[in-house]
Amino acid sequence: MDYASRQQRLRPQIAQHSLDALLVTHLPNIRYLCGFTGSNAALLVSARSSVLVTDGRYTTQARDEVEAARVVIAKGGLLADTVKHVRSRTALGFEADHMTVATQSTFKKLLPQVVRLKPANGLVERLRCIKDAEEIAHLRRAVALGSSLFDHALKAIAPGVSEAEVAGAIEYAARRAGADGMSFETIVAAGKRSALPHGRATAARLPRRGFVVLDFGVILGGYCSDMTRTVHLGKPGARARALYGAVREAQQAASQAVRPGVTTGEVDAAARRVLQRAGLGRWFTHSTGHGVGLEIHEAPRVARSQAEELRPGMVITIEPGVYLPGEGGVRIEDMVLVTERGVEVLTPTTKELISL
Ligand code: ZN
Ligand code: ZN
Repeated sequence: MDYASRQQRLRPQIAQHSLDALLVTHLPNIRYLCGFTGSNAALLVSARSSVLVTDGRYTTQARDEVEAARVVIAKGGLLADTVKHVRSRTALGFEADHMTVATQSTFKKLLPQVVRLKPANGLVERLRCIKDAEEIAHLRRAVALGSSLFDHALKAIAPGVSEAEVAGAIEYAARRAGADGMSFETIVAAGKRSALPHGRATAARLPRRGFVVLDFGVILGGYCSDMTRTVHLGKPGARARALYGAVREAQQAASQAVRPGVTTGEVDAAARRVLQRAGLGRWFTHSTGHGVGLEIHEAPRVARSQAEELRPGMVITIEPGVYLPGEGGVRIEDMVLVTERGVEVLTPTTKELISL
C-alpha cells in the first residue's frame, strides 16, 4: 500500500479546513494512512511529518507495520504523549465523530491553551471512499472468498436445521478458507423471520416452506465483503416468485444506474421505482446500499435524496429488500465497483431463485 501518497492527498484537505494538523484516532483511518493494525493508537498528521503514537504492547508490531510515520511508544497515556508533539499555536483538527465526549474533555485539558482545537469530520473517510488499485485487488479477494461460502450455506439449509447451524456452517467455511473473520454478525432469517431486515441467526428452526435470507461477509487482508442471497424452502408459489422477481428487478435496475456522475440518491431511486410499480414500495424500509472497504459500512451512503456523486473507484453495495410482516422477506445484495465507464458487479453468485 502506498501510505505516503495517501497522506500526501490528505494534507491539502487539512489545509483547506484551515488546520495545521489533524489528529487521527479512528483506527480504520490510522490503518489506511500508515498501515498500523493495533487497537490503541493516535496518528498526528501535520504539513511535513506524521507521528504514530501507540503503547508498549505494540512496539514490535508498530515497527513491522507502520510506514510513512515516525513511531512513538507512549510512556504515559496515549493522548498525553501525543500532545507533546503538537506545536504551540497549532489549529488542530480532531475526529469528533469518533471521539467520546469524555475523551474530548480530557484531551482539551491536556492541550496547552495556545492550541486551537477544531472538530474535523470525514477528512480521511472522503479519501477512503475512492479505492486504489491495491484496495480493489483486496476487495476482489474478499468478495471471492465471501461468495464461495454460499455453496456451504446451501448444503447446510434444510427444514428443521436451526438458523444458528446455518450461520455456523458459513462461518466455519470462512475460517477454513482463510478469512481473518466475519465482517459482521451473520444473518440467517427463515420463514416469518425473513421479514426482519436484520434477523441475526437464532435457535429458530427452518420451516418446510418459506424464504431464507442469508446476509454475510468476511474480512480478508483487512477488507470486508458483504452479500445477501434469499433462497426458498419448498416450491415457491406465485406470490413468492412475484416478490422475489420484483426485488431482483429492483436490484438490477439500481446496479444498472451506477456510473460516474450519477448521485447515490438516483441509484436508490432506481430500486425504489421498481418496487413502487410492483406495489411494494412501502415494504422497502431501508436504504439501497453503502460503501464497503476497511469497514463494512463506510461512505458513500446510497440512500434517498443523497446528493453525493459516484466516482470511479467507489465500491458500494446494492441491496434492496422487501419485508412483509408476519409473512416473509426477500433481499438481494451485490458489491459493485464504479468504473470509468459504468459499473462492474463484483459478486459472482447467481441471483436465480433457488428452491431447496
Ligand atoms: Zn449485507
Ligand atoms: Zn450491506
